[in-house]
Amino acid sequence: MTWNSGAAVRHGGAGPARAAGRFMFPQRIPATVRVPVGGSGEPALGVTMRTPSRVDVSKLLAGDLAAFGGPQADEDAAGAIRAEQVALVLRHAPGIMLANAGNALVLVLALWTTPLRWPAALWSSAVIGTVLLTLLKGRGSWRITKPTSVSRRTIHRLVRNAFILGCVWALLPLYFFAGAGQGGQLVITCLCAGMLAGGALAFATIPVAAVGFIGPIFLGAVVSLGRIGDFISLLMVALILLYVGVLLRGVFAYAFEFSASLVRQIETAKAVRQDPLTRLPNRFAFNERLDACLARLLPGGAEFAILLLDLDRFKQINDQYGHPVGDGFLVEVAARLRRCTGEGDFAARIGGDEFALIATGLTKPEDALAIAERIVAAFADPFRIDEREIAGATSIGIVLAPRDGTTANDLFKHVDMALYRAKRAGSGTIEFFAPGDDIAARERRALVRDLEQAVARGELALVYQPFLDLRTGRIAGVEALARWHHPVRGLVSPAEFIPIAEETGLIHGIGDWVIREACTTLARWPQDIRVAVNVSAVQLQNTGILQTAVRALADAGVAPHRLEIEMTESMLLSKSGAAPSVLDALLALGVTLALDDFGTGFSSLTYLRKLPFSRIKIDQSFIRDMLTRPDCAAIVRSVIGLAQDLRIGVVAEGVETTPQLDALRDAGCDEVQGYLIGRPMPAAEVSALLTADRPKTGHAA
Ligand code: C2E
Ligand code: MG
Ligand code: MG
Repeated sequence: MTWNSGAAVRHGGAGPARAAGRFMFPQRIPATVRVPVGGSGEPALGVTMRTPSRVDVSKLLAGDLAAFGGPQADEDAAGAIRAEQVALVLRHAPGIMLANAGNALVLVLALWTTPLRWPAALWSSAVIGTVLLTLLKGRGSWRITKPTSVSRRTIHRLVRNAFILGCVWALLPLYFFAGAGQGGQLVITCLCAGMLAGGALAFATIPVAAVGFIGPIFLGAVVSLGRIGDFISLLMVALILLYVGVLLRGVFAYAFEFSASLVRQIETAKAVRQDPLTRLPNRFAFNERLDACLARLLPGGAEFAILLLDLDRFKQINDQYGHPVGDGFLVEVAARLRRCTGEGDFAARIGGDEFALIATGLTKPEDALAIAERIVAAFADPFRIDEREIAGATSIGIVLAPRDGTTANDLFKHVDMALYRAKRAGSGTIEFFAPGDDIAARERRALVRDLEQAVARGELALVYQPFLDLRTGRIAGVEALARWHHPVRGLVSPAEFIPIAEETGLIHGIGDWVIREACTTLARWPQDIRVAVNVSAVQLQNTGILQTAVRALADAGVAPHRLEIEMTESMLLSKSGAAPSVLDALLALGVTLALDDFGTGFSSLTYLRKLPFSRIKIDQSFIRDMLTRPDCAAIVRSVIGLAQDLRIGVVAEGVETTPQLDALRDAGCDEVQGYLIGRPMPAAEVSALLTADRPKTGHAA
């Protein structure tokens, strides 16, 4: 007779835990019970402590204590509880089996001198035979790997087997007691008492099974004693009734405590693995699942993909609308993510605005791409949070295991690189990891290390590109452009190192140096010459730029209006953090403001009204094509007209030819900048240019 014949059990993925000797009201909570934090997340923790309104017989027979007013659990948690119940019963099973055999032998010996000798021998042989068979059959399964979940059917079988065993033992009082003689009756009474107590102990965690086993023996005893009907027999009935009452009370009390402890354990295990805001699995759960997938990967197991998401502009949403709206946004993102995932997918929130997904059961890389495309498409509709419509978008990086790595570390590193490339390519981009990413990332890390030292080592320099005033025909000022003379790589373009400096925060040190250096140099040039410095959005998040400007201007003895800040349109969108107040303070100081690369971003006219720009700089892409493309010419003309109407200056960038210059002059452009007028040059060359430009004025060179 087996306790778990045909058990439908699910085994834990990663490291199978041994059942033997492991569980006794465990206090080490998360490691013992491995509760699946449901696929793509689930609505809430699955365990409550309330009494159900209707008794479910299947649940009742499956050892669910909710039927008796005990703790109630959802199916996942109930499966985990059943696994613990079965594990405990199995742990005691060999001992109980041997006790059964021993008891059966004792009965034969006790009845050997009575006419019941052969029936007793037959009965005992059946019991001992079954025990031996069970022990032999279950040799391996007593030490089976502990399942994470056990089906109701398994407990149903266990209860059924307990009942059959109880019925077998009920034959003792029913069939053997009357003709057993005085000694035999004493032995049968002892055996019955022992079986009642042993059964209660063996099935202490599953009261239905205990009742199934004890019930027949108890009834058998009552019937056989009732048949005798004398005072002593009735006294014994009362005594057995009391015993059974005490035993069952103990069983229920123990089982309740056992389940309640497991429920608490499961709740903690879930809480440890669940993100409280979105109710998606968290990073911890994600890592566990990843480990499990990796364990199944070898040898030649299933392939899987990791998709890493990064929400675009999340910080901005948080800053602009406040944290409650930001939280609502994340909850909605999680909901949309759930809708995009299927059976084999495991979505988790692994950081502030970082979500990740493990997709299993893939047959080709395109399957992972299809999921990513579904997710990107799910962001297409605006998010409605607190009556607000918020546009959301995400970039996604993808790695495939084992192709792109066989360790969690490698896979994460690589999916990060793929995501980095996706983010750089723009909103809604999906990128697979490519081996080149690894090299690029290594190079980038080396570049960051070198850039950290660049200012201190004096490797940065400024070159200056002149602005020509078309009305006076003279140099009106210069734009300071940073150059990095790398000791090994040679000249590194700002297009390469400025974005890195922005991402790493090194831009603050570099930007401060640029302002100080530009002001110092400007002090050597005539009073009507201005210097424009390019400023990144991140620099305006830091009030330090203000102190730098004040000190640099004061130290150099330069009037604030001679220093111009160039900012791009994209910067105007990040009206977050300290930016507006820093900008206001710089303007209050007297520093002027130019809008760089106009036409390449959102070209919002609102900002032109809101901020007191001194100048608009038309992006060089329009100037390059203005003589060949009528649309570019129209844009250039209208921007010049707009600037004139707003009474602000206008500069054309990237002027390379005389026809371009003539066309711009005809259109009424104020100033031009570009290779035709002068390439970015060292300060000394600017000084020479200014001397030639102002022969009579003269200035300190
Ligand atoms: P930008 O501010 O729009 O600077 C103009 C860029 O166009 C410069 O490139 C300049 O050399 C180039 N250029 C000027 N005239 C012509 C022309 O006639 N034809 C062509 N094809 N190009 C021309 P550069 O120096 O490589 O700078 C690139 C960008 O790097 C700058 O664009 C600016 O956004 C950024 N940058 C440069 N220095 C700094 C800095 O100190 N701080 C910050 N935050 N950004 C900087
Ligand atoms: Mg510029
Ligand atoms: Mg520009």
